Amino acid sequence: MLTALKQIIQEVGQIPDLQPALMRLVEMVKETMSVDSCSIYLTDYAKQELSLVATVGLDPEAVGKVKIGFYEGLIGLVGDREEPINIENAPQHPKFKHFPEVKEEKFHAFIGTPIIYQRKVLGVIAMQQESIRRFSEDEEAFLITLAAQIALEIVTAETLGNLNLDNKVLINESRVVNGIPGSPGLVIGRGVAYNAKHDLTQWVAKKSGDAKTQVSLYRSAVEITRAEVDRLSDQIKDNIPEDVSAIFQLYHQLLDANSLGREVEAKIHEGWDAASSLKLVVESYAAKFERMSDSYMRERAIDIIDLSNRILRNIVGDSNQQFLLNKDKPDHEKYILVAREISAPMLAEFPRHLLAGIISIKGSNNSHAAILARAMGVPAVMGLHKISLNILNDQELFLDGYSGEVVLNLNENNRADFQALIAQEEVLQSKVTAQADKPSITLDGKRISLLVNAGLSANVEMEQFLQGDGVGLYRTEIPFMMRERFPSEQEQYALYHRLLSAHPSKEITMRTLDVGGDKPLSYFPIVEDNPFLGWRGIRLTLDHPDIFLVQVRAMLRASIGLSNLHILLPMISCISEVVEAKRLIKQAFLEVKEDAYDQGKLLSKPAVGVMLEVPAVIFQIEQLAQHVDFFSVGTNDLTQYLLAVDRNNPRVSSLYSSYHPSVLNALQQIVTKSNKANIPVTVCGELAGEPAGAVILLAMGYRKLSMNAHSLRKINWVLRNTDISHMQGLLNVLLRQDTQQDVISLINDYLETKQLAGLIRAGS
Ligand code: PEP
Ligand code: MG
Repeated sequence: MLTALKQIIQEVGQIPDLQPALMRLVEMVKETMSVDSCSIYLTDYAKQELSLVATVGLDPEAVGKVKIGFYEGLIGLVGDREEPINIENAPQHPKFKHFPEVKEEKFHAFIGTPIIYQRKVLGVIAMQQESIRRFSEDEEAFLITLAAQIALEIVTAETLGNLNLDNKVLINESRVVNGIPGSPGLVIGRGVAYNAKHDLTQWVAKKSGDAKTQVSLYRSAVEITRAEVDRLSDQIKDNIPEDVSAIFQLYHQLLDANSLGREVEAKIHEGWDAASSLKLVVESYAAKFERMSDSYMRERAIDIIDLSNRILRNIVGDSNQQFLLNKDKPDHEKYILVAREISAPMLAEFPRHLLAGIISIKGSNNSHAAILARAMGVPAVMGLHKISLNILNDQELFLDGYSGEVVLNLNENNRADFQALIAQEEVLQSKVTAQADKPSITLDGKRISLLVNAGLSANVEMEQFLQGDGVGLYRTEIPFMMRERFPSEQEQYALYHRLLSAHPSKEITMRTLDVGGDKPLSYFPIVEDNPFLGWRGIRLTLDHPDIFLVQVRAMLRASIGLSNLHILLPMISCISEVVEAKRLIKQAFLEVKEDAYDQGKLLSKPAVGVMLEVPAVIFQIEQLAQHVDFFSVGTNDLTQYLLAVDRNNPRVSSLYSSYHPSVLNALQQIVTKSNKANIPVTVCGELAGEPAGAVILLAMGYRKLSMNAHSLRKINWVLRNTDISHMQGLLNVLLRQDTQQDVISLINDYLETKQLAGLIRAGS
């Protein structure tokens, strides 16, 4: 049964348009399961109907015509109950409703199951039989498994708009795709999958109206690929084994215009663009090779795909080329970098002055990629997994970093609306910027210390230093991630010294290496089932005192003659880790002190603190206070670990919220206990840089907030318009709410009344 299921999914997956794909699916299901009819209905939420989109067994004329109300008949019942319904004799069922158009009089047995994606019923798949019988458990299980697998195909197709019911390709209509807000801000720009490793298997077929351009694009990509292949075979020609030489021969045959080319060009003339035509032809070739009994021939499928991926990259390469040509023009377009997974090195490589927005297919709101985007002040949307990279590439897009919406194919009306929103945002931003230098004092006269989260790159750091009362969190791992090996002590020293000496009077908090989780080092791969619960932060560096000592020595050497170094330890979950880390810091301190003495300089003892980000430590604050000089609350991880929600997983992103009443109560406990123990406490997680989060934290009693430089201006504006004593009454209400949604709506209402809501949504 599993093999049959795989075959169905594989074959159907190769058909680019949804309707023919679903048609093939129902045919295959009918054949495999030996039933008399199989049909699929898709939901139309606007009309509250389920529409018949594919059938074998019912009257084919009814496709596209029969619409069943949400609560009508057995199909409506399956959708409403959101569970499979298996009935021996359907016409006798009280909910049965006769639709004469489908001509189902002869059928009795009925089984239907909903097609669900992320709690939403997308449609219903049903099988019918003439005889009176109950479908077996195996048949039921098969249908449920199939429905779960086709749900994603349907969502992708709906998102792309290629629901080809009337044989019309709707790709030119405006489409809204919902992702997760990653970094606030609005932008209209061209998507560019810069340096992406495109792959035919990930490519979603797209139509094009311009066959002539597509043919010439394909032909020139083939010529570039031919030259690449020639170069490769030249490089190894002296020592070439027979099987490799056969591969090159195959490559040449395929590149010949009469082979692959003829079929690809035929597809282009059917209306597909060059890359999609290549995909459609190659996948059917590869499938034929894979089905061959000869193992040598089967393996050739891989060669065909490999060569075709080269051609594909040369087709797409052209749009990167266009982008690079434009990049030095003064009136260049705005660009939105789109990638499967945005990483720090990728952002560093992309020309900064062209980067107007970011879209990451993977990741979520508090992934480190989103944190980087916020630090750069670039609007971002994360977790846009319903759409393929190639659909976003080279397309004009509107990106709303507040709501997480991305709009494709703008039309004149919505473009004007978006431009008006962008203009409103610019007015608000200029107001915020104008007040950036004003003191951080609340309406009721409380002085708040605003610090910067740094670590992105040395240049950004220097600008960031000009603002705020110091650095509350310097993420040292980012410079580690930018390299291809561990940075030497001297390299680290140079980096840290630049930071510490730039503002000797401001406190600079440097966190020791916090890799693991979603911060990988390419040169130190860690493979784990649960990386966020695994070898991360202090756990890794205590197991590698060599790495830890080199880093701490570099920090201490960098602070010779200065007195502003604070060392922060990440991911502390027990007292023994603090004791061990302090022992190593002391060892490094004594070594560096001698060096300083030799130079005739002084080495000040650094303040040592811990991140409060693992829930266990909330219950050991009094004990921890005996060992450290300060605390820093990492709300990003604290939220992830308290709620057991992976901060990087878009599937569960709706459950991840620092406004969950339990997280808020934990934060209240932390500040109360820290104040009692007389230990300074800062919040350096993302919550501190959110307008709603900052006012809540102030009401709780926090007076030191650390955030990216872009948020710093905003939060300064917010706190200058906030009366903490007023907020305290609301805080007591917030702490007693049932859900994060209740908290968010109450605090948003508050911001609305203070005319601060423009900072958390598009438009003023
Ligand atoms: C946190 O967890 O809140 C934090 C500031 O650290 P990071 O985001 O780097 O894990
Ligand atoms: Mg953390």
